[in-house]
Amino acid sequence: MKNNIYKKIIDEFNNNKFYQSRFNQMQVNDFLDIPTIDPKDVMDLYYSRNQKDSTVFFTSGTTGDPKSIYYGKGDINYFTEYIKWFCEIEKIQGGEVVLILMDQSFWGVGYITGLGHIKAGNTIVPIDNDLPKEKLVDIIESVKPTVISSLPSVLIEVGDVINNYKFKVVETTGEKLTEDDRLTIEKIYGGEVFDAYGLTEAVIGVECEKHDGYHYNNDKLFLEIIDSDNNSLDEDSCGELIITTINSDSSPIIRYRSGDRCKISSKKCSCGSQYPKIWIEGRIKPTLLLHEGYKIEVSEVKDLVNKVKDNIFVSSNVEKINESKYLLTIILDDIISDDEKRLIKDEFVNYSYELMHMLRNSKLEIIFKSNERN
Ligand SMILES: [Zn+2]
Repeated sequence: MKNNIYKKIIDEFNNNKFYQSRFNQMQVNDFLDIPTIDPKDVMDLYYSRNQKDSTVFFTSGTTGDPKSIYYGKGDINYFTEYIKWFCEIEKIQGGEVVLILMDQSFWGVGYITGLGHIKAGNTIVPIDNDLPKEKLVDIIESVKPTVISSLPSVLIEVGDVINNYKFKVVETTGEKLTEDDRLTIEKIYGGEVFDAYGLTEAVIGVECEKHDGYHYNNDKLFLEIIDSDNNSLDEDSCGELIITTINSDSSPIIRYRSGDRCKISSKKCSCGSQYPKIWIEGRIKPTLLLHEGYKIEVSEVKDLVNKVKDNIFVSSNVEKINESKYLLTIILDDIISDDEKRLIKDEFVNYSYELMHMLRNSKLEIIFKSNERN
């Protein structure tokens, strides 16, 4: 990162109301002295931007503590420019018709993807991914999209109605894309798959034609990798990804702990791009991956069980039944009553909008098993 940007971020930290109140008026001279922040801090930061020209999302807000996320105009501009840059890497700038098959109600990614494509000169067709498959076929036949942007599981789920229609490019995001899924999607949709990596809190990177890691824009992001003792690691070493956004139109996210295990490299990619790359190796803490990229850490499952009954949680695991159904098994050290089971499920419903949505739409089922020998 260039010195003047370091200085700008240090100034921002020392003067920004949110960071100053979060860290008791702490003042720093060195970037690495800035403390890291977690997902809850990022939500609070976005909430602190409540202003007249905001766009409001409920992503990852919890119903128990119903905070909305306010993206100010500066945030929206930042995201839009970033997605436009994705289009440059994918070489789809201008003239494409992009079908955005994503949740359009409380997941900001669909909205931002659309804005970025418009900025890149493409036409967008935003479609909610809960739309009946037959309707989707009608829309495809009517608008003849050249690009489809969605989640791997959604693309596979609706794949049987695509028939022989071929796309030029398929954009995937929101979930881990396995090599098997990539091949399946390319076979069904005909186009080259470009996977993108982002978090609820930040847009990160996109694949180039080499499909080996994600290029990220180091004019817009400063990424660090740290070990478990918070020491910075060299390039090509794996550790936790720490994100700082370089966003001059809005208060930046400074040193956000992503919870993702990654490595980065600024070695020039064989595609010719001068932008550095990032690879994701997994999560730092044990995490369960649910429908549409939603993640929950095992420690969070334990906390939700503890709210109803202490000292009974043993472990939990997730099984993917099919593209739209996941089974969460919670192993307990005791037999619990049906009432207690219901109360624990209520805790999940109340924990986040995503869990509520999945449980109410039967995309997630929770079952309990006893670890007892009897
Ligand atoms: Zn490349």
